[in-house]
Amino acid sequence: MAIRQIRYIGDPLLRKVSREVTEIDDRIKILLEDMVDTMYKEEGIGLAAPQVGVLRRVVVIDVGEGVLKLINPELIYEEGENIDIEGCLSVPNRAGKVKRPEKVKVKYIDETGEEKVIEGTGLLAKALCHEIDHLDGILFIDKMIEEVVVEEEEEE
Ligand code: ZN
Repeated sequence: MAIRQIRYIGDPLLRKVSREVTEIDDRIKILLEDMVDTMYKEEGIGLAAPQVGVLRRVVVIDVGEGVLKLINPELIYEEGENIDIEGCLSVPNRAGKVKRPEKVKVKYIDETGEEKVIEGTGLLAKALCHEIDHLDGILFIDKMIEEVVVEEEEEE
């Protein structure tokens, strides 16, 4: 396990489309573990592989309900609207209002290779959409309706 270096806005890698994972080998398993460690260390609720410099469709999320590790996540259903404030580990000291679906269903493969569907509402729906966007080179600031002033050293 290891902490990986976060890529910040301006890094061209964050704007690239990530490739699907075709085989869950040791490299992918180590990547998932490192991403979980990095997410917790940086106190994020989600992290996508391109944020640590790896252009593969891999995402980790923990909105306080336990860790989720998603390989090749794909939005298959969305419903409703939810405007809420978002931030991103790759876009430090910025936050803004973004419109996301209130409810989503995401198809993915877990680390054992099993195909699953997860349903998320509210914060989880927001995190799923935010992280999947990263896999397509999209940042929340691209979708931001209104920027919000961030206080330094803000605690959640
Ligand atoms: Zn992000």
